[in-house]
Amino acid sequence: MMLAILIISVIVICIFVKGEDSCSCNVNSNLSSCNSCGFILKEEYNYCPNCKEKLKRKCEKCGQMIDVNWRACPYCE
Ligand SMILES: [Zn+2]
Ligand SMILES: [Zn+2]
Repeated sequence: MMLAILIISVIVICIFVKGEDSCSCNVNSNLSSCNSCGFILKEEYNYCPNCKEKLKRKCEKCGQMIDVNWRACPYCE
């Protein structure tokens, strides 16, 4: 009886942990939020659609759109 309870609780914990992982993973990889207003942003956005905060700038050397917070362009440097 004790063993059955133990096994069930391990399974429940596994499901819970897995669900949490995939959830936070998806949020981190695909979405970020605006530093200014917290609006959920897609990676390809150049401006925040809510507050028009500038999110990306054009690299002067290669013309790629890069994050405004990046000091160097990862595409050409
Ligand atoms: Zn914003
Ligand atoms: Zn560049």
